[in-house]
Amino acid sequence: MTMFDDLKGKKILVTGSTAGIGLEAAKLLAGAGAKVAIHGSRSPEAAQSVLEQFTSDGEVAYFQADVCSSAECKDLVEAAADYLGGIDVLVNNAGGLGGRNGLESIDDDFFDKVVDLNIRSVVMVTKYAIPFLRRSAEESGETSSVISTGSIAAREGGGPGASLYGGSKAMVHNLHRNWVKEFTKDNIRFNTVAPGTIDTAFHEDKDQGTRDKISGTIAMGRFGTSEEVASAYVYLASHAMSGYVTGQVLDVNGGQMCP
Ligand code: NAP
Repeated sequence: MTMFDDLKGKKILVTGSTAGIGLEAAKLLAGAGAKVAIHGSRSPEAAQSVLEQFTSDGEVAYFQADVCSSAECKDLVEAAADYLGGIDVLVNNAGGLGGRNGLESIDDDFFDKVVDLNIRSVVMVTKYAIPFLRRSAEESGETSSVISTGSIAAREGGGPGASLYGGSKAMVHNLHRNWVKEFTKDNIRFNTVAPGTIDTAFHEDKDQGTRDKISGTIAMGRFGTSEEVASAYVYLASHAMSGYVTGQVLDVNGGQMCP
């Protein structure tokens, strides 16, 4: 088996994989032969056109859940594990800005929305996936892997009105540091992918002037694409490629920030 066969038959749940970065990561993983549970909050009917984009050797199925709800996180993990026959790799990618509000405009509803979407989701999905990831490592003798999507905002604070978003993503980065201490004995690895400014629906509120201004702050002079971020997940999912890598943040940002 070569490094590139390593993901064949792996059982992988990718949250937030109906669009953007998660969709491209899921496509690459399925293309490498993994069986992938696709997830989003949209209805199964609305996800049909997403599933049609998977042409490869891998098998995929769609699961709907609102990851702002702990109960739905539990149901999602159980349904995905049932379909996959276990979980070898968990990608916690669902998340988002949730809107923009300066500090003086933050109310309880906005606070809960941003924190639930970016923190409750990662904590609860990972919590319910742990028994499956532990079993995967025990049975295979290899590491299992959790990859969460962090952000450049976790390192530099976030754009206007995104303090809670940036803070939430910083918490995601730091949760992993703790879980490395708790779960390395179980052979589960935890790594974060921190995208810079990636051209997805996330930036749809920005006019061309704002986009040009942001591009001027990026060493490569342009936004990244979801495809350019997706391969980082493949690397971190593979025991053969990254079996000794845990607790790291992999920045994919065109040189926008070099921490
Ligand atoms: P996107 O295109 O808007 O995709 C977001 C994905 O998350 C979709 O699949 C969406 O599914 C899912 N999702 C959102 N809210 C959900 C909920 N409550 N329950 C279940 N699923 C939900 O955005 P993206 O830019 O690819 O973002 C992916 C991740 O990267 C996010 O964690 C984001 O914070 C992070 N990130 C993005 C950038 C960037 O510049 N784009 C930079 C740094 C980090 P449905 O549409 O089906 O609900």
